[in-house]
Amino acid sequence: MSMPNFSYVRIRSLKEATEHLSSDGARVHAGGTDLLGCLRDNVFEAKKVVSISGLNNLRGVQETKEGGLRIGTLTTITEIADNKKVRDHYPALAKAASEVASPQLRNQGTIGGNLCQKPRCWYYRGEFNCLRKGGPTCYAYQGENQFHCIFGSGGICYITHPSDTAPALVAYEATLRIAGPGGTKLLPIEKFYVLPTQDVRKETVLKPNEILTEILLSPQPKGLLSSYRKVRARQSWDFALAGVALTLKLKEDRVEKARVVFSGAAPIPWRLKEAEQTLTGNPLNAGTITQAVNAALKNAEPLEKNSYKIPLFHGILEEELGAIAKS
Ligand SMILES: Cc1cc2nc3c(=O)[nH]c(=O)nc-3n(C[C@H](O)[C@H](O)[C@H](O)COP(=O)(O)OP(=O)(O)OC[C@H]3O[C@@H](n4cnc5c(N)ncnc54)[C@H](O)[C@@H]3O)c2cc1C
Ligand code: SF4
Repeated sequence: MSMPNFSYVRIRSLKEATEHLSSDGARVHAGGTDLLGCLRDNVFEAKKVVSISGLNNLRGVQETKEGGLRIGTLTTITEIADNKKVRDHYPALAKAASEVASPQLRNQGTIGGNLCQKPRCWYYRGEFNCLRKGGPTCYAYQGENQFHCIFGSGGICYITHPSDTAPALVAYEATLRIAGPGGTKLLPIEKFYVLPTQDVRKETVLKPNEILTEILLSPQPKGLLSSYRKVRARQSWDFALAGVALTLKLKEDRVEKARVVFSGAAPIPWRLKEAEQTLTGNPLNAGTITQAVNAALKNAEPLEKNSYKIPLFHGILEEELGAIAKS
């Protein structure tokens, strides 16, 4: 398949970027690993591709004066996986980054692109004019839905959110900075993603002329334990079939605070609030873990070909909580 025609601009400032992005059919280009595939496969069109790769102030990981981290969205996934501060203080993020795709894609792909990438539903990526593309129906509902979601579809669209780093960032309660024509604004990452019931055509709240510029991580409380676990179907399918990001704060052997976030489960990184509530205030023993796992999965709604995901999520959540309990 050949690449359709579009104009290409490489901008030098955020102001220039938002001006170009305000024209009809303009798209942000960071590392291009997802965008160019979508354009080549006619998943959507672009009249103008706006490369932000020259914005060097969006690169790198810096410590904030509060002791947290500021990650520029052009930082590559490899840099995040290898960064000592990320590895020491946000190990679930480093692990999630190290599990993204292949070394070549991690070297080229940026964290901003990873958070904004398009879903991998094969009907959407193929020649099907499904609901997410503005068409009349969802082809996955009665079709090949073995890799689709078990939570959050709203009976409308069954994609799973594709990013590994996003669930880890939700577990760490990261904040995003977004730049637009009127300046910048901050948004908790949980408010960044959009469910099909809110808008089936969108994955995030970003407007076409807005750019994700920074990820801000607060200093983590002493003793916070965290992990990311990912299961793939086979080496050729790199995206999470099932995954879980956890952050747990223990106080005198009881769970003081918990964040449990699934990947490969829902159209957005999926927080399991019932499981978090079950864990909070209780000792992290076998009984609490069983109750939390049951609470996590009690509202799952599998499709015809993906009910295997329920025991899979059950197993990885139980194992990860068990491993944290022993650590
Ligand atoms: C074969 C393959 C396997 C993969 N496996 C995994 C996997 O296992 N786990 C995983 O998490 N990901 C996986 N990915 C996705 C990969 O991580 C993303 O393609 C990559 O992170 C995107 O980064 P990029 O800089 O290349 O983004 P681009 O391709 O440049 O952009 C991706 C999208 O985000 C938008 N965008 C990019 N940056 C910004 C920004 N700063 N502000 C606003 N919008 C922006 C673009 O307009 C575009 O729509 C895989 C991809 C491929 C091709
Ligand atoms: S799951 Fe969503 S993206 Fe896939 S075919 Fe259905 S509507 Fe389209």
